[in-house]
Amino acid sequence: MTVTALGVPSVRSVARSVAPGPSSGPLVDTFGRVATDLRVSLTDRCNLRCTYCMPAEGLDWLPGDDLLRLDELERLLTVAVTRLGITDVRFTGGEPLLSRNLEGAIAAATALHPRPQTAVTTNGIGLARRAVALKAAGLDRVNVSLDTVDADHFARITRRDRLADVLDGLAAAAAAGLTPVKVNAVLDPETGLDDAVALLRFCLDHGYQLRIIEQMPLDAGHQWRRDQSIDADRILSALRRSFDLVPDTAPRGSAPAQLWRVDGGPATVGVIASVSHAFCGACDRTRLTADGQVRSCLFSSEETDLRRLLRRGADDDAIEAAWRAAMWAKPAGHGINDPGFEQPVRPMSAIGG
Ligand code: SAM
Ligand code: SF4
Repeated sequence: MTVTALGVPSVRSVARSVAPGPSSGPLVDTFGRVATDLRVSLTDRCNLRCTYCMPAEGLDWLPGDDLLRLDELERLLTVAVTRLGITDVRFTGGEPLLSRNLEGAIAAATALHPRPQTAVTTNGIGLARRAVALKAAGLDRVNVSLDTVDADHFARITRRDRLADVLDGLAAAAAAGLTPVKVNAVLDPETGLDDAVALLRFCLDHGYQLRIIEQMPLDAGHQWRRDQSIDADRILSALRRSFDLVPDTAPRGSAPAQLWRVDGGPATVGVIASVSHAFCGACDRTRLTADGQVRSCLFSSEETDLRRLLRRGADDDAIEAAWRAAMWAKPAGHGINDPGFEQPVRPMSAIGG
C-alpha cells in the first residue's frame, strides 16, 4: 500500500481479489477496508440552490413512493448496525431537515444495540426550531454547511437570502448540546479565499470547528472544472496569511480532514483535499440513498436496490448479503484524477453528501 502526500494510505497499488466476500463479520471490501460509517440520505429535495450542487430551477425530485418509509429505514438501520458493524450513522440529503422521518430515524438508530453515534449534515435552515427536538430524539452532533459569513456572497452562492437562518441554526445547535458543532465549507471560485479567512475567524469566535472541502465533480449540471475550484494548497496559503497553522499530530484514522492547530490551539481547522490528495485508501463509508440504493462510493456507477428487496419480502439474511456484495465490489478510489473519469449520473444532492 502506498501513502499519499497528506499521509493517507492509497489503495491504487493493491491487487484486487476475485474470491467471494465473507458472509459475516465486518463490512469489508476487496482492498481490506472496513465500512463502519453509514451515510443515509433522507430526501433529495432542498430549500437552497448552491451553485456547485443544484441548478437554480431545482431538479426532478424522486417520486414520493420511491422514498424509503420510516419502517423500511428502521429495518435497514437495524441490519446495518446489528449485522454489518456500522458504528456511526449520519443523516443527510438533499436537506434532511425537510424530511418528516428525521427524528424517527434518529430515534430508531439510537435505540439499537450497540448504539451508533448519530450526526446530521444540514444547511441549517430550520435548525433553530428543531435543535432541541433532534437532541431529544438522540442526535449526537451536527455539521452545518456554510460557505461564507458575508450575506451577499451567501445569497449569490446559495441563490437564497438565508444567512441569518443558518447562523441562528448554528447557535441553537450549540445551545442544545449538539456538539462539537462543525461547519462544512465549499469555497466559491471568486470570493472563496476571503470567505475562508472570515469563516475561520467566525468559527474561532463561536467555538465551531471549521472544515473546508475541495469542490468535487458532483454537481447536477456537470459544470465542475478543476481549474475553477480552489484546492487545499491554495486554501492553506490563504489561511496562513492570517493565522498560524501547525499540523495537528493526533492520529487521523479514517477522518478525511487534515487538521491544523490554529494560532497555537486548541482550536483546529480541517482541510478536506478530496480531489488533490484523495484519501480513498482510508475510506470507511457505505451509503444509502433516499430511494433505498446502496452505493459503495460517492462516485459509484453501480447501485444495489435494497428497496426492491424490502418490498418483495426479502428477509434480513438476503438484505445483509446484498449489502455485503455491494461493498465487496467497492472501487479502489473515486478516479477523479484518472484520464477516463466519468462523473456519476446521480448528483451529490440525490446521493447524500
Ligand atoms: N443539504 C445539506 C447540506 O448542505 O449540508 C446536506 C446535503 S449536502 C449535498 C452535503 C454536503 O455536500 C454539504 O456540506 C455541501 O457543501 C457538500 N457538497 C455539495 N456539492 C458538493 C460538491 N460538488 N463538492 C463538494 N462538496 C459538495
Ligand atoms: Fe441543498 Fe446542501 Fe446541495 Fe446546498 S449543498 S443545494 S444545501 S443539498
